[in-house]
Amino acid sequence: MEDNITIPLSYISQYNYCKRRAALLMNEQLWNENSYTAMGRGEHEHVHTPAAEHTSNCIVITDMPVLSEKMHLFGKCDAVEMNEDINGFVIPFLDNKKYIPYPIEYKHGVLRNETEYELQLCAQAMCIEEMYGCHIDKGAVFYITSHRRHEVFFYEDKRKAVFETAAQLLNLLNSQTVPQAEYSPKCKKCSLNDLCMPNTEKSAKKYMTMIRDSFKEE
Ligand code: SF4
Repeated sequence: MEDNITIPLSYISQYNYCKRRAALLMNEQLWNENSYTAMGRGEHEHVHTPAAEHTSNCIVITDMPVLSEKMHLFGKCDAVEMNEDINGFVIPFLDNKKYIPYPIEYKHGVLRNETEYELQLCAQAMCIEEMYGCHIDKGAVFYITSHRRHEVFFYEDKRKAVFETAAQLLNLLNSQTVPQAEYSPKCKKCSLNDLCMPNTEKSAKKYMTMIRDSFKEE
């Protein structure tokens, strides 16, 4: 596998939701729409148009491409607020003023605290830092239905988790493996449920044990 290979940044979130889901998407190229993914896609459309909106002391950039060579990740930020700040950084594609970037990830639903989204957001911040030599302390997940922001701080533990997830994704990609299903309450909402069949392996195992036991009894 080539060294410069890159992985879609959104898989950071997928992997932390379920390793098998990330591998099915990445290695088996599976996709299935359900009501959750359809709603999320519909609500995202307005931030999936590249634009730069100027307000006082802030430029909001939507659909901003990001990349990390260190983590082999690429993707897009739904929105990045570039907040003018004398302690900030010159962002080369803007002007000569200093800014502190503040990434915002849009998600379907009401305000909640989901680690996988926080890690996806942190990965975006780490990509921006690597690209523009800046430092970003925080960003936000914006929940579209409740119209509320959940602010996320990029502490060292989150950064470490992002780095480790990126390495694990690269391992999965290089090995072209798919971890076994582990049924959990998350499976009910998972759009890949029909394709993954998380209960089948256990049922098959149970069936094989039953057959084996029946032979022992004979
Ligand atoms: S159905 Fe469950 S085990 Fe299968 S990919 Fe989805 S979350 Fe993972």
